Amino acid sequence: MTASVQSVDLPRSSDWTVLAANVPGGVITSQDARYEEARKLWNGMIDRHPAAIVRCTSVDDVAMAIGFARQHGFEIAVRAGGHNAAGLATVDDGLVIDLRGMNQVAVDPERRIARAGGGTIWKEFDVATQEHGLATTGGVISMTGIGGLTLGGGLGHLMRAHGLSCDNLIGAQVVLADGSVVTTSETERPELLWGLRGGGGNFGVVTELQYRLHPVDGMYGGLLLYPRARGVEALQTYRAVTASAPDELSTFIAFLSTPEGAPIVAFIPAYAGDAAAGEAAVAGYRALGEPIADMVGPMPYVALQQMLDEGFQPGPHVYWRSHFLTGLPDAAIDVIVAGANAAPSPLSSVLVEHLGGAVARVGKDETAFDHRDAEYNFAVIAVWTDPAEADVNIAWARGVWEAMHPYARGVYVNYLGVGDGVDRVRAAYGPEKYARLAALKREYDPENVFHRNQNIVPAKA
Ligand SMILES: Cc1cc2nc3c(=O)[nH]c(=O)nc-3n(C[C@H](O)[C@H](O)[C@H](O)COP(=O)(O)OP(=O)(O)OC[C@H]3O[C@@H](n4cnc5c(N)ncnc54)[C@H](O)[C@@H]3O)c2cc1C
Repeated sequence: MTASVQSVDLPRSSDWTVLAANVPGGVITSQDARYEEARKLWNGMIDRHPAAIVRCTSVDDVAMAIGFARQHGFEIAVRAGGHNAAGLATVDDGLVIDLRGMNQVAVDPERRIARAGGGTIWKEFDVATQEHGLATTGGVISMTGIGGLTLGGGLGHLMRAHGLSCDNLIGAQVVLADGSVVTTSETERPELLWGLRGGGGNFGVVTELQYRLHPVDGMYGGLLLYPRARGVEALQTYRAVTASAPDELSTFIAFLSTPEGAPIVAFIPAYAGDAAAGEAAVAGYRALGEPIADMVGPMPYVALQQMLDEGFQPGPHVYWRSHFLTGLPDAAIDVIVAGANAAPSPLSSVLVEHLGGAVARVGKDETAFDHRDAEYNFAVIAVWTDPAEADVNIAWARGVWEAMHPYARGVYVNYLGVGDGVDRVRAAYGPEKYARLAALKREYDPENVFHRNQNIVPAKA
């Protein structure tokens, strides 16, 4: 889907010079020594060559970049943390609006509100809010952008206690396709806020996100590792413990390998509360018996949020597929364990995340994010480094994903990957919500200028 442009007027070198002179963060074209580094994304599989990367540090920069792109007929990609596995944050021959320079976080501890620039990453957000003993649900890898993650939903360690990231989004500033700037809140343009709570980057460039914060005074969590041979029992235990877990406890379970290549299964619990209650909440996991390692205990929230970063560094090639699950019947457990055991690369993993709690208590129609009643989220993540190994790894991920179809219901839009098409975007929202999003898209971006995203096609007039 390409956007219509007002007029196409290829830029001369003097046009680039004028743009660069007006954007203090700089404009990086292929002539620039920084270009090769600047065009990379988290997923090393994505190898695109934009015409330029515009490093925005203000709302004016963003408006100017949008205007420049439209005047000269460039497709626009918006980049925040650059972690989107499908590589939406870049575009061949187009203009990347890079928001990483817009990463200021202002906290109002009295009102328990934070305002953060659209290019902030979770590490910056968590550190700034924890200075006041506050936090909101964010991603579990701290280099991920608050922008893409929140606008698509936002699963994280605090979600069962405090809802998804998007549930805590209470306002935003957005630059629209015509360069105008609007704000939204629960009382101002509420339908736009509804759309930003799960509808992705479809409506404009979000230059500021405003969040509700919660007191978070330390966590009880970490990693509890068992040999892969205990995989089936581990998933059965996970199912039993999560069935009656308190809202303070969010847990995901991962089938992965140690750095030495030994296959293991890891419980990753996070209890938002005091240590004694946390210990009681995770006792069911420990009942599985002697672990390889038990690294679960009291820890600061910021430490928990950065605990997994080392294993998710940018660079490797990644192919990612996922489903929401209705439950975890024994047959699904068998598929997950057999699938994980057949992974061709020790860098790959299979994950299950437990939803419910505060996530499920938000009304279905309150946010664009859907599938509130899914119990679990499943993801198969193929990771490799040698491009020659792409086919075997992609085939493995596809095979495990297809085998999980009988237990699936819809998909999380932020876990869509390379090759997921419009049918999967529709599956993320369901027909009614997709239609409501399409009407909103017609209102805010009728020409689909912002289409390098999990695209909502504007409804016909
Ligand atoms: C290592 C890793 C860990 C992850 N962990 C989690 C997790 O714990 N929980 C979870 O829910 N998801 C997680 N994800 C998925 C993540 O939510 C998506 O990949 C998301 O798109 C990343 O956001 P980003 O800003 O880093 O991405 P980018 O690639 O920069 O942006 C992706 C797209 O989002 C849109 N966008 C981003 N910011 C803006 C903005 N300010 N204004 C308008 N549009 C914008 C644009 O369309 C953009 O192309 C993870 C992904 C990775 C790779």
